[in-house]
Amino acid sequence: MRTFSFLRAASIALLTATITMFAGSAHATIVVNGKTVSAWPDLEPNQPPPGIAFDRVGAPGIQLFPHPSGVVRGLTILVDFSDQTGAYSKSEIDDWLNTQGYNKFGLSGSIRDYYLKQSNGLVDYQNEVHGFYRAKKAKSYYQGGNAYERADELWAEVIDALDAEVDFSKFDNDHDGKTEAISLLYAGDEGTFGKGLWPHASVSNDQRDGVRVNRYMMTAMDDQPTNYVFAHESGHMLFGWPDLYGVGDYSIMANRGANTNPVGVDDVLRADQGWIDLVDITSTTNARYQATPNGVVYRYRNPARPTEYFLWSNVQNVGEWQSLAGGGLLVWHFDKSINGNNPPQTLQLAVVQGGGTRQLSATQWPSPGSAKTDFFGKGVNTEFAATTKPASKWNDGTASGLRIYDIGASSPSIAFSVGVGPLPATGDGGSGGGGGGPSSGASGAAAHAGSPFGGSSGAAVAGGSGTSFAAAGAAGASGAPSVGGTPGAGGTPDVGGARSTASGAPSTGSGGSSSAAAPALSAQDEAGCACSTAPGSSRRAALAWGLAALVFGAIRRRRR
Ligand SMILES: [Zn+2]
Repeated sequence: MRTFSFLRAASIALLTATITMFAGSAHATIVVNGKTVSAWPDLEPNQPPPGIAFDRVGAPGIQLFPHPSGVVRGLTILVDFSDQTGAYSKSEIDDWLNTQGYNKFGLSGSIRDYYLKQSNGLVDYQNEVHGFYRAKKAKSYYQGGNAYERADELWAEVIDALDAEVDFSKFDNDHDGKTEAISLLYAGDEGTFGKGLWPHASVSNDQRDGVRVNRYMMTAMDDQPTNYVFAHESGHMLFGWPDLYGVGDYSIMANRGANTNPVGVDDVLRADQGWIDLVDITSTTNARYQATPNGVVYRYRNPARPTEYFLWSNVQNVGEWQSLAGGGLLVWHFDKSINGNNPPQTLQLAVVQGGGTRQLSATQWPSPGSAKTDFFGKGVNTEFAATTKPASKWNDGTASGLRIYDIGASSPSIAFSVGVGPLPATGDGGSGGGGGGPSSGASGAAAHAGSPFGGSSGAAVAGGSGTSFAAAGAAGASGAPSVGGTPGAGGTPDVGGARSTASGAPSTGSGGSSSAAAPALSAQDEAGCACSTAPGSSRRAALAWGLAALVFGAIRRRRR
């Protein structure tokens, strides 16, 4: 039951500096983090250790996806056209991408803020902005052609044109000969999925300045900055995450539920990155725990296939998650051996819906998005075990042995028990750690003594330390009847409404100077993936499948 807080050791120091001019004095006084210093500190990003590539899978059991960390330098290139100029300025884009505490255009944070928050300070994604580059041909031209043809043409043209002014090697953050994050932001609306220009992530083989100009994405400026698409495509580009169709509104890689201020990264992907602390439950664990939002998450791995696991945490519908219909203990089923999410096939990442239904994993988009009955907790379903509905089975149908029971009501601190025997009378388990600050999350985890990670002997549930619970009393609750879930509660007729409510915001106030009005792009109609622009409803499902394959494939294959 070791926790994974080690990455926090590499937490980046974000300096706050002020400069004060003394009256009549010719020099400035520089104050950094409250101390007067003689010179501006070196703000160059920390270099990754030699030989460490962001996309090399590393730590045992996590980092199954690429995992850039520290200051990650991206390049964003602005492109406009003779028939389509940008609706806002380069300096406004620079602010949107890089300014901490950004709050213009109705956004509650910049792109940099988004990933700083989701990573608990571990990923400081900054973009150097170049452009506007005026494309050689009109946008109407690039919007034609077949599939990626014209998008690829624009990409090649832009990289060639910018070569003289951009040192691309600056954007190979981990010095593995490949850039990590180049974004092309084109003026106007997003376009049409599958033709011309539309938001997507891809890879390139162009060699410039001694590096391969490798992972990139492109998306539209639209009428105003919004965070969903940029954050989503960055998810593909920076971390190699797939589109997560079939998980409703529970991930930035899923539905476009809220466009301007989107939901966060789900806790499975966050745990894989090492952004939140993780406690491994084993078959011998017998304990009561607390779960708090952004605190410790809990995982139970398949001993036969360790990249399949259940993971659960406390998700509350506040902050970036405010568009969700409810809160509680959200249980995920992850299986890396499955290649992405293609409902209704078994998903790589699925929400185990507490109400016992499976309509999330059986559908694509745009609904359902979320429902109160998706969560476990008092009032919905207080147990997840071998014979409950849903049952804690692995994807091959075998029993996992996991039993989570006596799950408390949804609140900022949810108690639950794990195991099959009576709970130790001495109390055990730690609190989930305080949410928020990077360092606080680890506190709860410290209450767990460590058998080595993945070790089978997880017997060492540390009694006593940390916040001990009235475990004896809790033990009596183990007989909690297996709750079948509130029948019919999974119908989620209200979900669509919730989503469209949340999505109403972005379109208001956008003024609409350009053709970017694009009503088809509203979240209500939008696909789970930002890479699409809502194909006609009759074609939606088919295109969704194609989209998943194309986008995920594009991430993995070398294009051009
Ligand atoms: Zn996508």
